[in-house]
Amino acid sequence: MTTPDAPALSVVVPAYNEQEVLPEFHRRLAAALADIGMSWEVVYVNDGSRDTTLSVMIGIQAQDPRAAVVNLSRNFGKEIALTAGLDHARGTEAVVVIDADLQDPPEVIPALVATWREGFDVVYAQRNTREGETWLKKATAAGFYRVMQRIGGKVHLPPDTGDFRLMSRRAIDALLQLREQHRFMKGLFAWIGFPSKAVRYDRAPRAAGETKWNYWKLWNFSLEGITSFTVAPLKVATYVGLLTAIGAVIYLSQLVVRTVFFGNPVAGYPSLLAVVLFLGGVQMMMLGIIGEYLGRIFNETKQRPLYFAERYLPSRSRDA
Ligand code: UDP
Ligand code: MG
Repeated sequence: MTTPDAPALSVVVPAYNEQEVLPEFHRRLAAALADIGMSWEVVYVNDGSRDTTLSVMIGIQAQDPRAAVVNLSRNFGKEIALTAGLDHARGTEAVVVIDADLQDPPEVIPALVATWREGFDVVYAQRNTREGETWLKKATAAGFYRVMQRIGGKVHLPPDTGDFRLMSRRAIDALLQLREQHRFMKGLFAWIGFPSKAVRYDRAPRAAGETKWNYWKLWNFSLEGITSFTVAPLKVATYVGLLTAIGAVIYLSQLVVRTVFFGNPVAGYPSLLAVVLFLGGVQMMMLGIIGEYLGRIFNETKQRPLYFAERYLPSRSRDA
């Protein structure tokens, strides 16, 4: 959405129940971008917050002509809120994506811009540390990235990287052509390609409010990531099936040989039950995996718009 008086840089901020941090976020962002040497705007996306996030945003927009507000008609989740922000970003040169909770320090943005000026289309911020997060969360995150990398094939998913990044206008335009419902943004960011480079930084603990993630959500997020990123799990069925079949043949020939030479004094009820249960379990699991993909195909075929914006207040000035 570029217009003649559009700013050079857009900063897109999805926010869900972030009333406590937003004013502080805006202050720190404006301070960090003071000497950036290009005109900028910030696009706040209210993702159906149940607190006063929207009025805080509107207040900021009224006072600062560089702020824009997109209010979604309900809570759509971070990935779609982010997409809504990117759709409304007018930045002609580049777009930065950042969380509202100050876990991604706005002070890193000038470093992202500097690397972008070296000629990289995608500059992602890579975490050095995960302060204020439990070892369990760190371990599960590490495991997730490892699995994704193994099954992701050609697409390289950088580890310890969230959505915090800068993308050039052409990379954003490429990204916005991907309109799938199941939006695993990290996968989409990686899929578009373009010259990319990492900038390292220290991730801070949340400034205020609380995380919207719990383990159930993270598990679903991983499922979403894997199933929208690769069809490799579908192949698991082929190999598990093959292995069980080979195992069954070996077991059977062994049984026949034993029966012929030594006779068979016990009726093999326990082994039979074990095999039946095992095969039943494997089949159920494979049906589940196919179901995950089938459900996603179902959602995609509806071809619904990704979101509805209840209102859009654009930024009003091109000057920083
Ligand atoms: N967020 C959102 N919609 C949601 C959940 C989260 O827009 O349904 C925003 C949230 O306000 C924050 C960012 O996404 O700016 C990251 O959320 P959070 O801090 O809860 O995730 P974490 O940092 O723990 O991964
Ligand atoms: Mg956070």
